[in-house]
Amino acid sequence: MNFGFKKKNGGSSNGRKRMEKQNTGNGPSIPDGMWIKCNTCKAIIYKKEVTKYKLCPNCDAHFRMSPSERIRVTCDKDSFIEFDARMESENPMEYPYYAEVITAAQRKAGIKEGVVTGRAKIQGEDTVLAIMDSHFMMGSMGSVVGEKVTRAIEYATEHKLPIIIFTTSGGARMQEGIISLMQMAKTAEALGRHDAAGLLYVTVLTDPTTGGVTASFAMLGDIILSEPRALIGFAGQRVIKGTIHQELPEGFQRAEFQLEHGFVDRIVHREAMREELGKILRLHKRVESEERV
Ligand SMILES: [Zn+2]
Repeated sequence: MNFGFKKKNGGSSNGRKRMEKQNTGNGPSIPDGMWIKCNTCKAIIYKKEVTKYKLCPNCDAHFRMSPSERIRVTCDKDSFIEFDARMESENPMEYPYYAEVITAAQRKAGIKEGVVTGRAKIQGEDTVLAIMDSHFMMGSMGSVVGEKVTRAIEYATEHKLPIIIFTTSGGARMQEGIISLMQMAKTAEALGRHDAAGLLYVTVLTDPTTGGVTASFAMLGDIILSEPRALIGFAGQRVIKGTIHQELPEGFQRAEFQLEHGFVDRIVHREAMREELGKILRLHKRVESEERV
């Protein structure tokens, strides 16, 4: 596989160094060129081989997706109506350089904050959606992420609609301190009211879902789906290992491990997700006669 890569760059050490620099980190790194590297099987893949589902053609790894890519493969065409698109973070803790960090994240992800919310149709069924973006400060949950998710849940409650949340997050946003942690209670409380109204909440865990998001709305779904091999946990593996001084089991915190241990109801391949969600929405649809009870 490296052969193809070297050939493409003509063995130039500068080009190689540049590629290597961009290829560090956990997610799939996509340099501007024609090639991407899969960080699961390490294969160098011709970019055009990656379809709209963003899967590795070699090992079927599910690469991270932006909310707009997610909407394209999940919702009925042109059905998505966005909520609160222009809501932006303040700097409540007066954290140094936070405004600059936000501006850089906005430029990188092409959205104003780490979650996109709205309503849409999936296979003809109405639903509210919240889709987090790991490209925006690792999908960390600050006041705006919490507020947008809460407003989406409240909209769903008010309009008697189900809500589907695609989670991906590195956890609470440290630059917003305690305000960031307060979002856990706020989102959970709004979900409590949605649940009391007898409405359906589906979580779709995607890679990675960790920290305060796992500890709040990610784990509160009536039905919890996950993409294959997604990392799902609260604390990182290194922290846990350092605390308990024990070797962690093989595949620890991966979706398959969480399914086996009861945290996930079903693992769904990305290509089958739209169909699966459509089926769940149809099965749990409120009917007129029930509303009168
Ligand atoms: Zn791969």
